[in-house]
Formats: sequence, structure tokens, C-alpha cells
Amino acid sequence: MPSPALLSVDLNALARNYHTLGALTGVPVHPVVKADAYGLGAEACATRLMAEGARTFFVARTDEGAALRTALGDAPVIYVLDGCHNGAAGVLKAAGLRPVLNQPAQMKAWTEAGGGACGIQIDTGLNRLGFRPEDAPEAFDGVGLVMSHLACADEPDQPMNRRQRDRFAGVTERYPGVTRSFANSGGCFLGQDYAFDAVRPGVCLYGGGPQARQDDRIAPVATLTAEVLQVRDVSAGDSIGYSRGFVAERPMRAAVVAAGYADGVLRAYGALGEVWVAGQTRPLLGRISMDVCTVDVTGLDVAAGDRVELFGANRALDAAAAAAGTISYELLTAITARVPRAYVGT
Ligand SMILES: *Cc1c(COP(=O)(O)O)cnc(C)c1O
Repeated sequence: MPSPALLSVDLNALARNYHTLGALTGVPVHPVVKADAYGLGAEACATRLMAEGARTFFVARTDEGAALRTALGDAPVIYVLDGCHNGAAGVLKAAGLRPVLNQPAQMKAWTEAGGGACGIQIDTGLNRLGFRPEDAPEAFDGVGLVMSHLACADEPDQPMNRRQRDRFAGVTERYPGVTRSFANSGGCFLGQDYAFDAVRPGVCLYGGGPQARQDDRIAPVATLTAEVLQVRDVSAGDSIGYSRGFVAERPMRAAVVAAGYADGVLRAYGALGEVWVAGQTRPLLGRISMDVCTVDVTGLDVAAGDRVELFGANRALDAAAAAAGTISYELLTAITARVPRAYVGT
């Protein structure tokens, strides 16, 4: 029985995006597989990326790193972006993870735990994690990576990009021979001088465009489909769903689809949302509820058991995100555990 709502993940497309980013930048791609590979499944995605040649991965949390270590074995390098925070040293050590140290207290904690291989993060303007350039520590034993993160990588014309890049280039002179990593997905598209020694893309691996819209160079990876549970005729004047969120002005046919906000189909999607059904893009009608949403299928040959696509190969992830007033990252990571992940292309 196919699942009512299903997130299908095309691992061949993931592999293509990985190689596209490598060819574009000319440097090794270190995939970011935090947040369960943006909801697509870190184990399956990282295993495939490793088979394609990836040797270094990034996660955000220590426990994400520990789970990835179990999944991938001893070979790959795994960096934890949270760093060595709040008693994490024991788990980092036990799982052979490398913290990305971001402040003096973390340096101290890591050193006290015996030190060892790690990265350091320089904050070049995002004002999130990392040492300010003027506070960056001297090179020390164990540091194998120096990195920074762009604030506006999805806006190629934003002068901040160049400023951050130049600041980063300046600081890295303090760390001769240490791998330099600067670009996320958007950064991979800013030009060769943003690539440094290794890039750290996330969303473009998973099919999101580098500039919050679809990009032909990036293949769709994730497709969210859901089953039509019931098709009903609606008369003029009838309302659909909670709070009479939609009122029909003419007779219509409406398909009730097994995808709601408990599956991660954001309720904010209601007003502008569209889905792909029977070869067409059709609007959602009324409110998205916990378990279902409703689609206008007037004039279409649609029956219970058919499937609709909320985003994927036919309906661009970035367009779906824009309709929900958000970005591809949030749309992907919002898909809940209720939705099984199915892998194609293994
Ligand atoms: C999440 C993250 C990335 C990946 O960003 P994308 O925009 O998804 O490519 C890279 N570096 C850091 C520090 C991050 O937090």
C-alpha cells in the first residue's frame, strides 16, 4: 500500500547536484547534512554522497554527528558546527567528531578534553557563530579547517559578499596549510574566488536553487506526493474546510488530499498554494488542516487513490516555498516524521 503522503528522494539527482557543484567550483565538496540532510534522511544521503567521493561532512549538532558516525563508519571526517559547547567534548571524542570552535570558551573546553583535530569558525559579518577576525586565535595543533559563512550568498549583487570574502582571505593567512572553506550553496555560484579549498553546500544538493528560485543547473531531488482520499462535487455557495476558508462561486469538483500541517504542509500555504495534479497546476482551496488539504480538480479526471504532487519534479520546490511565504530550506525541514521517505536511484 503506498503511503498517503510520501517524500520520495532521488539519490541519482543528489549525486548529480554534488558533481555539478564540484565542477562549478573546482574544489572538493563537503556536504552539509545537518537537520537529517534537510529532512531528506542524513544516512541515505550521506552514504550516497560518500559513494560519489565525499570525504568530509558537516552537521550542526553533536548528536547528529554521532548518528552519522554510526551510519558511515570511521572513514569520513565529520565537523560539528555547534562546536565544543556545554559538555559536548566527551561525545565528540567518543564518536571521532571534529568541533568547529567558535569562541575562547570552546577552545578551552576542547583543549582541556585533550584537544585534537578541529575546525575554527571566523565571523566575517554574519554575526552568528565564530571569532571576530581580530580575535581569531593563533594557529595551533589540531586545527584542520578554517571557515566562515556568508550572510547574503543568495544575492550575488550584495556588496557584503565581497567584504566578507576579503576579510576571510585576510584571516586565513594566519593559518598556512589549513583547509579554507567559505562558500555555502549560494557561495558556490559567486565565482571562483569564493571557492577557496572546499565548499559547504546544503540546499543545492537537495534541489533548492542557490538564489531562492529554481536554477536549471540544480536537479530536483525531493518530491512530496499525497493520495487523493475523496473527490466531491461542490455547489455554488458551498464552503470548503474550516472557517469557510473558501466559498465556491460556481459548481466545482474538489479533491481531498492526504497532506496537512501535521505532515509539514505549512498552514501558511493555504491562500497561494498550488499542487500538480493530473498534469496540471491547480490551486488549493481553503484552509490546510492537520491531515488533509483540498485541491480544485474541476474538469480533471481525478479519482480517489490518485496522487498529487506538492513539490518536486513538476512543481518547483522554490516556487512552492515562495507560495508559502518561505524558503526551500524551511519547506524541506518542515516535513514531519509521519511522512515516510522513499529512496529511488540507490
Ligand atoms: C547550513 C550551513 C551551510 C549550508 O548552507 P546552504 O545555504 O544550505 O548551502 C553551510 N555552512 C554553514 C555554517 C551552515 O550553517
